[in-house]
Amino acid sequence: MNALEIRGLKKVYKNGFEALKGVDITVQEGDFFALLGPNGAGKSTAIGIISSLVNKTSGQVRVFGHDLDRDPEGVKSCIGLVPQEFNFNMWEPIGEIVVNQAGFYGIPRKEAWRRAEQSLRQLDLWDKRHQMSRTLSGGMKRRLMIARALVHQPKLLILDEPTAGVDLEIRRSMWEFMVELNRQGTTIILTTHYLEEAESLCRNIAIINQGRLVEHSRMDQLLHQL
Ligand code: ADP
Ligand code: ADP
Repeated sequence: MNALEIRGLKKVYKNGFEALKGVDITVQEGDFFALLGPNGAGKSTAIGIISSLVNKTSGQVRVFGHDLDRDPEGVKSCIGLVPQEFNFNMWEPIGEIVVNQAGFYGIPRKEAWRRAEQSLRQLDLWDKRHQMSRTLSGGMKRRLMIARALVHQPKLLILDEPTAGVDLEIRRSMWEFMVELNRQGTTIILTTHYLEEAESLCRNIAIINQGRLVEHSRMDQLLHQL
């Protein structure tokens, strides 16, 4: 089964701007996939649509067989999203942040704490569960974003420019974490504008530019062409 199938995806924002002009992308289950493109290419728009944060204008999206139009809850349950910007309440303890996210998926509170413990431990943050998120270092905040995205054990983890503006040490530890998570079976889609990052991590790649797909291939084949 494919983790993601996008067919003819278009997005026209209310101001008339065409951010996606008919994009087709297929991501196989178990893949580590790069969505590459310069700033403004439409990567965040595509991710927003897959994650039900942005309405598409037309086209089809299927996630592990769930159609976004017919079964949005099914799609939602399969996806964990790590957005580009920190978007949690800085005055909330980090344990609560992760537990509340589980509530978003209808997981009851007691079970939510069990899941939160699991994902916070995985990211080395369990000991800090009572701390306000604002007290965390930049690297810990990044890890909190990932812990939160994993709380419902999604089959597909999408990370939007997770290493933008992050120093090399933290970037390396995030790379290791993503590789290990993928090895354990989670499908990963990473957006980035660094080709080197995509090259070292990802097996398959799509490149978009100005809302159009310009490449969709295996990473080794693409590198061979360059
Ligand atoms: P939609 O068409 O999906 O409903 P909107 O056009 O309503 O989206 O825009 C959502 C928000 O994004 C608005 O607050 C809008 O002002 C803001 N926005 C507008 N232009 C841009 C832009 N170029 N980049 C990022 N956000 C923008
Ligand atoms: P990327 O993630 O590849 O940098 P985005 O998907 O954020 O690209 O943006 C693609 C284009 O759509 C950009 O030109 C951006 O300014 C525009 N855009 C993004 N959000 C909105 C919005 N809400 N309204 C209008 N234009 C938008």
